[in-house]
Amino acid sequence: MGKNNSIQEAFSETPSNFIKDIIEEDLRTGKHTTVITRFPPEPNGYLHIGHAKSIVLNFGLARAFRGRCHLRFDDTNPTKEEEEFVEAIKEDVRWLGYDWGAHLYFASDYFDNLYEYAVELIKRGLAYVCDLSADEIRQYRGTLTEPGRESPYRNRSIEENLNLFERMRKGEFKDGERVLRAKIDMASGNINMRDPVLYRIMHVPHHRTGDKWCIYPTYDFTHCLSDSIEGITHSICTIEFEDHRPLYDWVLDALETPRHPQQIEFARLNLTYTVMSKRKLKVLVEDGHVDGWDDPRMPTISGMRRRGIPPEAIREFCRRIGVAKRESVVDIALLEHCIREFLNKTAPRVMGVLRPLKVVIENYPQNKTEMLECLNNPEDMSYGSRLVPFAREIYIEQDDFMETPHKKFYRLAPGREVRLRYAYFIKCIDFKKDADGNIVELRCTYDPETKGGNAPDGRKVKATLHWVSKEHAVDAEVRLYDRLFKEPYPDRTRDGRPFTDFLNPDSLITLKGCKLEPSLLKAKAGERYQFERNGYFCLDSKASTPESPVFNRIVTLKDVWAKIKRQLRQ
Ligand code: ATP
Ligand code: MG
Repeated sequence: MGKNNSIQEAFSETPSNFIKDIIEEDLRTGKHTTVITRFPPEPNGYLHIGHAKSIVLNFGLARAFRGRCHLRFDDTNPTKEEEEFVEAIKEDVRWLGYDWGAHLYFASDYFDNLYEYAVELIKRGLAYVCDLSADEIRQYRGTLTEPGRESPYRNRSIEENLNLFERMRKGEFKDGERVLRAKIDMASGNINMRDPVLYRIMHVPHHRTGDKWCIYPTYDFTHCLSDSIEGITHSICTIEFEDHRPLYDWVLDALETPRHPQQIEFARLNLTYTVMSKRKLKVLVEDGHVDGWDDPRMPTISGMRRRGIPPEAIREFCRRIGVAKRESVVDIALLEHCIREFLNKTAPRVMGVLRPLKVVIENYPQNKTEMLECLNNPEDMSYGSRLVPFAREIYIEQDDFMETPHKKFYRLAPGREVRLRYAYFIKCIDFKKDADGNIVELRCTYDPETKGGNAPDGRKVKATLHWVSKEHAVDAEVRLYDRLFKEPYPDRTRDGRPFTDFLNPDSLITLKGCKLEPSLLKAKAGERYQFERNGYFCLDSKASTPESPVFNRIVTLKDVWAKIKRQLRQ
């Protein structure tokens, strides 16, 4: 009964999916009494939103079933890995809202165990030292349609193999001179089973083990054994490892390990207008297409954090996309929708003018300042209100005025009256142009009777504009971000053109001299605001200084996803 209850609860927390079904069944049948998953990043780059899917899944399942999730660095390749990435990955996982507790592991912690396991395989006649070069191994491997050929070194005696493997470890051979291979089946239909390499020689120091080792285990040998050593119950990975599962099981069976975790594969996340592989993200960084791994346009966790995207929105997005076996490309509009949905509920409203146009209210007293009460969230009174200064000279958006308005333009125009949010009705009586014909100033009058935004005589206006007092405005730089690629599928190459050909040249627009209401002076990095009518914004943690604040646009207000959904329903 107790167990059933906790399973029920788990179902209500995370949507059901086939992996959850498997776990539930394993708990029901008593195959397992607890759930232990792991998230196994390779510390060779920064995490991206695809990893977030895996993190939310692994940590989420552990949480749902009151088990635990380990954070294990899969650090078996000393040539590509760096300590910098280890710390960044930990920070990203924590920021996403997950905690591995005491269960932080490194595959390199198991190098001694793995070596012992390899020796055991040799002793069981199931592994051998092979002197073929990497090229020769490839040639002998065969193809999808042709079986492979056996290595001439395949039938070495156990003694000779033990001796050679020991000498490999001692550093007697050069890189690539010998490898340790599993002795499985060169005719197997699954190429991964054609005597895969288990250990290779690399005279390269490791970020954690220093120069203790000059032989390093491969992913296939390491992963299953690390899972087994840690007592992982369900080893969840992406589809490309499906063909490796027979090898995963073979290694554990061959060694008769006391624990044999179950590998389960799911489809990786792909997003439109985005590239996801670390290799491609690296190209963007190294070729200077973006300003580092944490550029706010990057799909990395650090980039999204810097942009101001809340972790709650990422988690919700991961829950909504669900978990399936089939590869698909998720519309980035869904992510944007989740971000808006969260920010709409949580981000206080403020006023900021991005492209300022000066307005002089001629009949407003010269040296007067009024403090007007503005709501922090009109949809939730518990957010309270703040006082915003109003004076004779203010800024509005340039595009809120048209000299000769077209039919559907309801905002300010000569002779027309509009409402200033939380303030008064104003009417445009004149405007000034510079030598190039640009409108540089509006002359208006206000109606003191309309304070708060309504006319006592009941007359209506068709538009409400946001504004900022000129004298009190905070000057800021604002960075408007758009999708990094202009094509929905930048990954699918066309006519041999590289993915970088499809970068969106307007993915960053920098506006200087924006005018923000003075309450934003105390904005802290990471705080998120809705600039009324302009979108959601967040103070940039890197580029901002107290003297010259920089705000990032997290996302616009316009919800494309909601529109797509409406269209689908029609
Ligand atoms: P990339 O292909 O982007 O370089 P990777 O798979 O090499 O990523 P790892 O550090 O090995 O990166 O990944 C850690 C975990 O995250 C693995 O379990 C991997 O399957 C998972 N993962 C990586 N990319 C995605 C994705 N796009 N969707 C879901 N899970 C992912
Ligand atoms: Mg990988």
